Amino acid sequence: MKAVVMKFGGTSVEDAVAINRTAKIVQGRIDQGQRPVVVVSAMAKVTDQLLAAAKSAGRGDRNGALAISARLRNRHCDTSAALLPAAAQGPIQSWIQQEFDSIDEILRGLSAVGELTLRTNDMVVSFGERLSSRLITEAFRNQGMNAVHVDARTVIVTDAQHGKATPDSALIEARCQQYLQPLVDAGQVPILGGFIGSTVEGVTTTLGRGGSDYTAALVGGGLEAEAIEIWTDVNGIMTADPRVCPDALRVKTISFEEAAELAYFGAKVLHPATILPAVQKNIPVLVLNSRNAQNEGTRITALATHCSSPFKSIAAKKKLTIIDLVASRMLMSHGYLRAVFEIFDKHKTAVDMVSTSEVSVSLTVDSNEQLPELAADLSKLADVTYEGRKALICMVGGNIRGQNGIAAQVFHAIRHINVRMISQGAAEINMSFMIDEDDVDEAVRSLHAAFFVDPDPDIFDITARKAIESVHL
Ligand code: ASP
Ligand code: MG
Repeated sequence: MKAVVMKFGGTSVEDAVAINRTAKIVQGRIDQGQRPVVVVSAMAKVTDQLLAAAKSAGRGDRNGALAISARLRNRHCDTSAALLPAAAQGPIQSWIQQEFDSIDEILRGLSAVGELTLRTNDMVVSFGERLSSRLITEAFRNQGMNAVHVDARTVIVTDAQHGKATPDSALIEARCQQYLQPLVDAGQVPILGGFIGSTVEGVTTTLGRGGSDYTAALVGGGLEAEAIEIWTDVNGIMTADPRVCPDALRVKTISFEEAAELAYFGAKVLHPATILPAVQKNIPVLVLNSRNAQNEGTRITALATHCSSPFKSIAAKKKLTIIDLVASRMLMSHGYLRAVFEIFDKHKTAVDMVSTSEVSVSLTVDSNEQLPELAADLSKLADVTYEGRKALICMVGGNIRGQNGIAAQVFHAIRHINVRMISQGAAEINMSFMIDEDDVDEAVRSLHAAFFVDPDPDIFDITARKAIESVHL
C-alpha cells in the first residue's frame, strides 16, 4: 500500500489543542482509506529554547541552562496531562521525567566543562522532536488510532556533519522499506520526529533548522509515497502578500522551480531545497493549513501545469541596499568581477541581484551594519556609492518563457514608479526589479491588478473573488 506522508510543523503541535486538531486531520485521512506516515516537529519554540539552554551551559551558566530545561519539562508534562486521561498518565509522565533528567545531566556536564561542541548541541536539541513525537503517538493512540512511535534516528541515516548533516538517501530508502513500509502495510500509523537523524555508528545528528520538511521529503521518497503533505498555518502559496493586496488569490498548483524562486523572496512557506528528494521522484507535495483543514492548499509538482496567465505570484523583499561600482578600468579587462566578488566573499555577504555595464556594476545586498567596511574594501577597485531602503519585486511564472511583450506590460503597470535595476533570470521564470521600499505596496497592488484580472480558475482559487462579485451584482 502506498503511504501518504503528513508533516506537522511546530505550531501544529504547540499544545494539547493543536495536537488534538492534528489527530483529527490524520484520522480524516485514515477514514478516506489512506495510509498516513506522520512526521512532527518539536512543539513550537522548543528547539530555540533547547539551543538557548545548550548555549548557556556551554558558557558555564549552569543555573540558567537548568532553568530553561525546567520550564520545558513543565510544558511537556502539562501538555501530556491535558492530552491523556489520568489513568494513562503514569508511564508517559515518568518517561518525560527521565528524558529531562538526561537533558539536565548533559547540561550539567556541559557547564562543568564550559564547552559546547556541535555534536553535543545536536544531542541536546534532538530531544525536542524525540519528546514531541512520543507524546503525539500516545495522544493519537488515546484517540483510538493505531499509532506506533518510530525513532527517526533508525531511519534517517546521515553523515557526521553536526548541525546540518547530509542524509544518505540510499540507506534511508532501505530503512524506510525495512522499518516503515511493514507498519504501513499492517494498517499502523508510524509517527517520527522530523529534523533528527544519526550516523551509521548511531551518533545523533540534525538536518539543520527547519529540517522536518526535509525528513518528510526523505521518508516520502524512501516509501515512494502517493503524496507528501506539509501542514502549516497558512492556506498555501498566494499570488501576493494578502496583507498588502487584499484580493490576493491562493495558488492551487505551482511547479517546483517556481516555488523555489518564490521561497527565497518572502513566501516562507517551506524551503524548496528540502523537498527536492520528493520532486525528483515525481511525488506531489502539498502545503496545507492545519487551522483550516478544508482548504485545498497549494500543490507543488515537478512540472508546471498549463496556465493562461504569465505569472503565478508576486513576491517582495524589503531592507535591501543597492551598491553601485563605477570603474573605467573595468572596460575591456577580465578578472574584475572576480575581484569584486572576492570582497563580498571575504565579508560573507550574499548578493541578490547583479547588473553590469561596460564601466559599472550594481549589486544588491541585505542591509546590514557591515556595509561601511564592505564599501571601504570595494573602493580599492572602484568608485563606490550605496543606498539603502530599497526593495526587490520578484514576479514568478513558468509562462514568461517565450512570451512577447511581458516586460512591456510589467513596466507599463508600474510606469509611475522609479525602477532602479532590472533582471530576468536565466531560468526565464522570474522577472525581478529594484524599487524604493516606500513604493512596494503600490507596485505590488498595481502589478496584481494588471496580471490577475482574469485568473485561470484551474490554477488560482477564485471562489473568494466570485463571492465578492456576486455580492456586488
Ligand atoms: N524543530 C526544528 C526547528 O525548529 C525542525 C523543524 O521544525 O523543522 O528548526
Ligand atoms: Mg518549520
